[in-house]
Amino acid sequence: MKRINQVSPWLNHEELKALEVSITDKWVTEGPYTKKFLGKILDLTGSKYALPVPNGTLGLFLALLALEPKEGDEIIIPSFTFFGSASAAHFAGFKPIFCDVDPKSYMASLENIKNKISTKTKVVMPVNIYGKSQSVKPIVDYCKNKNIYVLEDSAQAIGVFNNGVHSGTYGDMGVISFFADKTITTGEGGVVLTQDKEIYERLKLLRNQGRPSSGTFVHPKFGMNFRITDMQAALGCIQLDKLQDIINLKRELFSYYNSMINDRDFISKPNIQSDQQDVPFRYYFEVSDVKEELMTHLENSNIQTRTFFYPMHLQPSVRSEYGKQDSCPVAESLFKNGICLPLHHDLTKADIDYIAACINRF
Ligand SMILES: *Cc1c(COP(=O)(O)O)cnc(C)c1O
Repeated sequence: MKRINQVSPWLNHEELKALEVSITDKWVTEGPYTKKFLGKILDLTGSKYALPVPNGTLGLFLALLALEPKEGDEIIIPSFTFFGSASAAHFAGFKPIFCDVDPKSYMASLENIKNKISTKTKVVMPVNIYGKSQSVKPIVDYCKNKNIYVLEDSAQAIGVFNNGVHSGTYGDMGVISFFADKTITTGEGGVVLTQDKEIYERLKLLRNQGRPSSGTFVHPKFGMNFRITDMQAALGCIQLDKLQDIINLKRELFSYYNSMINDRDFISKPNIQSDQQDVPFRYYFEVSDVKEELMTHLENSNIQTRTFFYPMHLQPSVRSEYGKQDSCPVAESLFKNGICLPLHHDLTKADIDYIAACINRF
């Protein structure tokens, strides 16, 4: 029996054709496809500026470097996120302070963040989780007043709008990832979005060895190499053309899961927003106290499952570097009860019938 995998990017002959062009034209580092890809990103997101980066984690790292942290500067990060959010902050020289999240949106609310604000807070990093379209406006407005920067981790949020505003464009900066399991992929890759000309100029120098343009060997600033390849951008152009089809399919399959899984007292299914702004990342649900058993049952039925994120404030690396952290009960309960199921282009309704039947039999 075939195994139903968590991840399967929608790549076919169109991406292959674009790759062939990028190899034939011999522009293998940033070239015509990169320019085209960035243009398409600006069109889609409405962002003023966009810069390509090798992956989402390095995008967050680069964005934070541009804010020039000083000793003791703090950044507030939701405990419920992928480890890259925390790692980027650590290596950029910020002290990560973890806050809890809202039990419905899984994202940090303004209240969650306010609880952790101190005189040392320099940045707040709202994280878009599972493609939910919750607005970060209250957080950004609050931070603006207090001269705190907002960097949105929109790694999972390509195509996610709230009232016409694309995720990652409301704060000072936002980062989108194009890793293999994201809504669209370039293999590895990402973009940093910003609306601020000064930050944009700093990012440009930082990502290109501290010089305003390549081909010169005079470096006014220190900088690194955060370039991508034109092959990645070639994939990205084709993937962006498919974005709306991918989003439509994900929404349809997500609703189908919801309708096929029976209501049971130990299962709590995600609610679907009627305005359909969310771009579901995985299918996910919470169970009370039977996560391990249900996951084993599904794995034994050849269905690849994933837990939710292990909370950042409990990470062994975080504890050994920064000491014991305050508890975040919601993030802890999400890890304890959450299960993710596949949601991708190669998944059929028959697959979902099968997965739902396995859950309903449990
Ligand atoms: C995927 C992801 C990242 C990291 O992106 P990469 O491209 O894999 O480095 C960061 N934050 C969140 C929330 C993610 O889902």
